[in-house]
Amino acid sequence: MKTTEQKTDQGSQETMPQKFSVLLEKEQLIFSAAHFITFAGNICESIHGHNYRVRCEVTGELDENGYVVDFIALRDALEAIVRQLDHKVLLAAQSSRIEIQEQGDEVIATFEQRRWVFPRDNCMLLPIANTTAELIAKFIVDQLMELGDPRIDNAINEIALGVDENEGQWGTYRTPWRSGA
Ligand SMILES: [Zn+2]
Repeated sequence: MKTTEQKTDQGSQETMPQKFSVLLEKEQLIFSAAHFITFAGNICESIHGHNYRVRCEVTGELDENGYVVDFIALRDALEAIVRQLDHKVLLAAQSSRIEIQEQGDEVIATFEQRRWVFPRDNCMLLPIANTTAELIAKFIVDQLMELGDPRIDNAINEIALGVDENEGQWGTYRTPWRSGA
């Protein structure tokens, strides 16, 4: 906290603030899921799966321990979010093209003449418009912010979270950090 105050003092503009970041790309942050996206208006993919990989880089100032954030706290928080997606059918609940209905123990997805029926507990309905890697990345960051873990909230200034859906096809969401709750 003291270093933050010093850096915002007048006259500090002459020296560039030091930036540090940590990067997490762990086996615990791999998940397997099914999805299908819509694109170019009226095209809808067939359902298929990916072994998704998550990579997270956060930027902040060094604390009294000399690190940006507790690696383990960040890893565990991300892992808990990622586990919710593992072995699920990812559905975009805010899609304007695919209609999602929850009926009892089932979820029914409809796109024009096509219809998919899934057991409810096999699905993860995400508050996004399409299940692209970029928007899945945003979902994970939003969840991390909502978690409100002070070890993370107090440490991070910026986050860049990437989701790889196919061995080197990354979608990334990058944003200044603002804690949710
Ligand atoms: Zn895909």
